[in-house]
Amino acid sequence: MIYIAGPCAAESEEQVLEAAHALASTGEIIFRAGVWKPRTRPESFQGVGDEGLLWLSRVQNEVGLPVATEVANAEQVNKALAAGVDYLWLGARTCASPITVQAIANAIITSPQRTHLRGVFIKNPVNEDVALWEGNIRRFQNAECRFQIYAVHRGCNHQPCWEMAYQLHQDMPSVPLLLDPSHMCGKAERVSSLCRDAAELQYNGLMVEVHPHPEQALSDAKQQITPDDFSAIKQTKETTYTTPLELRWMRKMIDEVDDRLWDAIEQRMSVSRRIGEYKKAHQIDVIQPTRFEEIMSKRLAWAETNHLSKETVKVIMEALHEESIRMQH
Ligand code: PEP
Ligand code: MN
Repeated sequence: MIYIAGPCAAESEEQVLEAAHALASTGEIIFRAGVWKPRTRPESFQGVGDEGLLWLSRVQNEVGLPVATEVANAEQVNKALAAGVDYLWLGARTCASPITVQAIANAIITSPQRTHLRGVFIKNPVNEDVALWEGNIRRFQNAECRFQIYAVHRGCNHQPCWEMAYQLHQDMPSVPLLLDPSHMCGKAERVSSLCRDAAELQYNGLMVEVHPHPEQALSDAKQQITPDDFSAIKQTKETTYTTPLELRWMRKMIDEVDDRLWDAIEQRMSVSRRIGEYKKAHQIDVIQPTRFEEIMSKRLAWAETNHLSKETVKVIMEALHEESIRMQH
């Protein structure tokens, strides 16, 4: 297992060194910290910028750990390589833009300082698009680069998207596959169970957000774990599985479909409650038989084209409708 661990962002020299010392005591790791943060909102903490690279050099020289940071354009590549950063990663937002990814690949390939670069981690894009993820990886492989390319599975919209990762692994079996549980779930309390999933599916490594004081983090505070929690993850004993690997993958996929299905049912009920309030305010009867017939016949026609039994679809639709009526009341 390759372990990449460290805070979401480098926040101060003290925080970076405290995190690095704590992580070094857990054994071999690559220390991560973002210095330029591609944030969704402009008012959020955007990273400390170039200064953070000096702190990463201190981690290399004083703590003795290799370091990784995120790059989102050619200028950042040049600065990070000039500072001697060992590994670079491309974030999910950057990976949604093939032109940007190509520009980053070109900047690395043409840099005279690339010789010390040990690896590039390529996250899946923010949208569930395996072809784009694979294409981004190929932009680096095409260039006859000597450093290792890794795929980092971080999911989309806090859904794991196991099927996307499975597909990538089938198509590119020689590319090491790592899991980023932190961005995948967005919640510190779910990180260790996702790490167990990664072990179960024989991932090659983990990228985990670890902060010495998660509650004080300037970004992604809810998902960062403590160095002690990380150490416990690292020490988890290997489990032997009796089910074949392929079946374990498919079970992850089906569990995720069930999660999404129940989320969708919950969403339907919440819209139902709004409809109930509207009907009440406007003195409209909760039960509208023609509306139900319309929904049912549309779904039965859909069942036919999707090769599902009409009887099963009818039972599910009636149960959903019954629960919606209860919500509206
Ligand atoms: C990160 O690793 O800090 C990060 C921004 O991740 P992602 O691009 O996966 O959101
Ligand atoms: Mn983060």
